Amino acid sequence: MDYLGKYKSAVAARSTCSEVLAGSQDGGIVTSMFIYALEEGIIDGAIVAGQGEKPWQPKPIVATSVEELLSSRGTRYNVCPNMSVLKESVRKYGLDKVGIVGTPCQIQALRKAQLYPVGLRDVCDKIALAMGIFCMENFSYQSMTQIVQDHCNVDLHSLKKTDIGKGKYWAYTNRGAVSQIPLKLTHKYEQPGCHVCLDYVANLADISTGSVGSPDGWSTVFIRNNNGENIWNKAVAAGIFETKPIESVKPGLELVTKLATEKITKNQKELEHRATFGVGKGLRNPYI
Ligand SMILES: Cc1cc2nc3c(=O)[nH]c(=O)nc-3n(C[C@H](O)[C@H](O)[C@H](O)COP(=O)(O)OP(=O)(O)OC[C@H]3O[C@@H](n4cnc5c(N)ncnc54)[C@H](O)[C@@H]3O)c2cc1C
Ligand code: SF4
Repeated sequence: MDYLGKYKSAVAARSTCSEVLAGSQDGGIVTSMFIYALEEGIIDGAIVAGQGEKPWQPKPIVATSVEELLSSRGTRYNVCPNMSVLKESVRKYGLDKVGIVGTPCQIQALRKAQLYPVGLRDVCDKIALAMGIFCMENFSYQSMTQIVQDHCNVDLHSLKKTDIGKGKYWAYTNRGAVSQIPLKLTHKYEQPGCHVCLDYVANLADISTGSVGSPDGWSTVFIRNNNGENIWNKAVAAGIFETKPIESVKPGLELVTKLATEKITKNQKELEHRATFGVGKGLRNPYI
């Protein structure tokens, strides 16, 4: 099994822009890349997770300005259906070169739409840059609210950042307090659909990135195909990113591989379990 997907190169990287870094989740790779691509005309807008109606609820938006990209920085650990505005990005916003960020399942949906563009005529050929983010699991809005408010004892209005790492769910407040709970408490809140997901590091993106493997404030980045490589190399040459060989940072790809293997092995077992779920019949397997 190919746990990390195909890639041309992997590096540890972070943005050289302090404004991006100030509000980004990790190394600001997604936001800096989209700002660069927008300013260079590589994309003319990007689908990102904007602010929804409720605090910490993301909403997919088509960002066509640097301001919109900056205000969409950071991870919101609840579902944001970015693919839902893909058609609108072309038909309503008139984009010719679309950037999109997504979890592995969203990038799978994007590639599926490109191969089988049912209802998406003249849309899928406009994808210019697909940025994938690593993802172990996601939560509904209600689940995230319960984790933050009931378990971490932090009000959503005073929440500055949430993070999952080192076996814990972290909640940072605007006034500098840090609350953490072990991930074993959050398992029951995970979206059930995530338990049959066999992709950790967004194998199908042009470029994928996450925090695991690199030191705090840095990101692990996989440059996966020619399109990703072309754009990444231009951005690095333009000084948008600082990079280090992935072999030179700790814990590096060893930990990424370990987590990817754990996720995929566990979820493959769940798929096997579902095959014999009923009496004499099983639940549907989307992979066959
Ligand atoms: C549900 C979820 C689970 C994750 N699990 C892991 C993990 O197990 N290991 C790991 O290393 N990394 C994980 N990540 C990725 C990590 O949290 C960062 O998103 C990633 O490292 C990018 O950071 P950055 O500083 O480059 O991005 P930033 O510059 O901060 O930009 C982040 C981008 O992601 C978009 N975004 C935010 N929330 C969502 C969302 N819910 N759905 C879709 N897009 C969103 C934002 O709009 C923004 O464009 C997860 C992310 C999500 C959303
Ligand atoms: S675990 Fe898989 S299905 Fe769940 S949000 Fe992440 S990528 Fe999507």
